[in-house]
Amino acid sequence: MTRPAIPAERYAERLARVQALLPGHDASAMLVGVGPDLLWLTGYNAQPLERLTMLVLPADGRPTLVVPRLEVAAAEAAAGVTPANLDLLSWDETDDPFELVADRLGASKSRPEIQLGALGGTWGRLGGLLVSDRLWATFLLRLQAAVPDAAFGVASAALAALRAVKDAEEIALLRLAAQAADRAVSAIASGRLVGRSEADIAAEVRQRLVDEGHELAVFGIVAAGPNSASPHHEPSDRVVAAGQPLLFDIGGMLGGYSSDITRTVWVAGDEGSGPPDEYARLYEAVRRAQSEATAAARAGVACEAVDEVARRVIGDAGFGPQFIHRTGHGIGLEVHEEPYLVAGNEAALAIGNCFSVEPGVYIDGRYGARIEDIVVCTSDGPEPLNQVPRELLVVRG
Ligand code: ZN
Ligand code: ZN
Ligand code: ZN
Repeated sequence: MTRPAIPAERYAERLARVQALLPGHDASAMLVGVGPDLLWLTGYNAQPLERLTMLVLPADGRPTLVVPRLEVAAAEAAAGVTPANLDLLSWDETDDPFELVADRLGASKSRPEIQLGALGGTWGRLGGLLVSDRLWATFLLRLQAAVPDAAFGVASAALAALRAVKDAEEIALLRLAAQAADRAVSAIASGRLVGRSEADIAAEVRQRLVDEGHELAVFGIVAAGPNSASPHHEPSDRVVAAGQPLLFDIGGMLGGYSSDITRTVWVAGDEGSGPPDEYARLYEAVRRAQSEATAAARAGVACEAVDEVARRVIGDAGFGPQFIHRTGHGIGLEVHEEPYLVAGNEAALAIGNCFSVEPGVYIDGRYGARIEDIVVCTSDGPEPLNQVPRELLVVRG
């Protein structure tokens, strides 16, 4: 299957949509440093360097991408960095890029003061500037010095909800990433496990993620026995033995988009016996919670309501206090992004949202289980992108 590409016009649409939102946030511009917001707006996956790269996106007027001279070729290679979409402004080693940004914002030496309605307070005529959430403090502090009378806020206030609604190409890439992760987890689970260390299996996980089409393996949690009770366990020298669960939570990036899948198997060994009753009950509670929460994740349903469904199933089974994290997180250019399926998030799911559904139960010192799929909210309801069976797989290992 060929990989979908996001066309230059899509980036132009995204830039225009953000510009149109800025006045509603009392902002005269958005300033986007290196990171996922820049990638979403321009297709430019810039290196995080000590030299400033910054998209200056005014509420009206042309967007400008300020880049160090030596990064111009890399920036121009990005799909959305075209003369139709934005101006490219490079700076030399002895230039002050913060002054360039201030110039582009139209910051003059004498700034008349104005009142801003929604935010209240008095600032210079620039009003509010929204800066990308991942902008380093070293850059933000120098920006604030270059534009001293602006009010600064985070870009996610305007961007998060836009980025959370995936278009067709993004969903296609997330699907390809999920399918690649499915193949990796299936191959690992059906292979040799007993007698190998978690770290050794994790190295195989990372290799398989790349072999199956990811450009990058980002994480490979392999947690055996009691370690499965630690949700973000770091693979260790612990050797996998028969008669215990083994949890895999693995993911990487494919075409810039993330995969993230969790499966828990029971390692039976040669005698082939299944799990004890308590573990079977625990796993079944997680499986039902995952299934029912997925079914509940329809457009218009509040994020917290999906979390509530998973929590009720696990609570009814008597494991409520052992379900120690939210039910899921959005996924896209970042492994964790909006929307978060968590109590208190009253935002409604929208068609095009992509997120994990991943309840778990963790009994400290003994064992745990988690099942995680990536799910797309479609007009026909929730569609899981991961298809590896969710029943407890008893493997010989
Ligand atoms: Zn996690
Ligand atoms: Zn995960
Ligand atoms: Zn996850």
